[in-house]
Amino acid sequence: DAYLARIEQDNGRLNAYVTVDADGARAAADAADARIAAGDATPLTGAPIAHKDLFCTQGLRTTCCSNILKEYIPPYDATVTRKLKEAGAVILGKSNMDEFAMGSSNETSCFGAARNPWDTERTPGGSSGGSAAAVSGALAAAATGTDTGGSIRQPSALTNLTGLKATYGRISRFGMIAFASSLDQAGPMARSAEDAAILLQAMAGHDPADSTSINAPVPDYSAALTGDVKGLKIGIPAEYFGEGLEAETRAAVEQAQAVYKQLGAELVPVSLPNTDYAIPTYYILAPAECSANLSRYDGVKYGHRCEDPQDLTDLYSRTRAEGFGAEVKRRIMLGTYALSSGYYDAYYRKAQKARRLISNEFAEAFKQCDVMLTPTSPSTAFKFGEKINDPVQMYLTDIFTINVNLAGLPGMSLPCGFDSQGLPIGMQLIGKALDEATLLNTAHAYQ
Ligand code: GLN
Repeated sequence: DAYLARIEQDNGRLNAYVTVDADGARAAADAADARIAAGDATPLTGAPIAHKDLFCTQGLRTTCCSNILKEYIPPYDATVTRKLKEAGAVILGKSNMDEFAMGSSNETSCFGAARNPWDTERTPGGSSGGSAAAVSGALAAAATGTDTGGSIRQPSALTNLTGLKATYGRISRFGMIAFASSLDQAGPMARSAEDAAILLQAMAGHDPADSTSINAPVPDYSAALTGDVKGLKIGIPAEYFGEGLEAETRAAVEQAQAVYKQLGAELVPVSLPNTDYAIPTYYILAPAECSANLSRYDGVKYGHRCEDPQDLTDLYSRTRAEGFGAEVKRRIMLGTYALSSGYYDAYYRKAQKARRLISNEFAEAFKQCDVMLTPTSPSTAFKFGEKINDPVQMYLTDIFTINVNLAGLPGMSLPCGFDSQGLPIGMQLIGKALDEATLLNTAHAYQ
């Protein structure tokens, strides 16, 4: 009830939720009460959370913040949704996001952008901006997000949250509406590593319904939070501290390095020379996959359908012209071009090769360290309108996060201070594949 009251009071200002399910939340809370009384609770039983609006929720509108899915009510739950429900979490509603998770500022949402509780003239980041605004504004205790190129970590950094993108394959993508299938991965957005560990515990694990899900044991993440980082080797990649990084962000991350040193960790300089190629590589691969994934929105099976189609081509083209926003259309065109015969070798194949190099170079650097520490975002929260008309500027905000998706590794953002305007600064921890436990403990030691 307290969270529903907060939503009532502040959602108009923050636009964090696009759908609020007060009745469903009250019913789930009653069920949680009964479960707690029966001694059958998990740490999540009764925890009020928000789901990014691309996790299918049975019977509850799931829009991807796109006009093409604006009235879509899924007949089934995503695996993430189901698992969190089974643990007893209470779903308050669905959070705002960039349309189909394409964006870094939440400005591509068909519902208008969510706003940053730290300064409502500024973006909460994206694409999981509504989840970030909801948790940071205390409209939810925690939230789910997804991260294809930074969409959990960057909004977490911009709103003072602890957010984790799991290893590709760690969390099932079943029922998570696809953007770029080889990069998309879910994770928790929370107020601490302790909370993130509890959520990840419930979300992670093999799922036969997702062919890319990894069949590996899931450790006890809360038990891993010893706070001990003595002897931990923390890699500092030089390429993440170069041009384009705001001075105050650099200073805050360097201060965090000193804290870790004091805690007994060892700082190891490492090198990731192909870092500069991450953005161009991603902006071939992600649009290519998006163009294939989004071909299913044809006005036939579900979602928006144009009025009075004259024939099949007219149905497709008007439905899609009306349903998709400008950024999504840009990606579909870029991706279709990159995959077209004659250009495939020059762009798509080349990008796949670059991706392999980036991934290999992480593997090489991880021979020298256990985790890496970098800034999450080159700047703190920027103002609405600042980058939305310059796609390249917007794409560059993910310069430190995208490589991690290309390599399939787990990444995390946690707060490490404030700039002189009082805006939160985040730092990023990058881990070895499937080693979320070390990331969480490294964050916990700092917190
Ligand atoms: N900002 C990046 C993009 O627009 C990443 C988004 C994401 O991680 N979903 O594609």
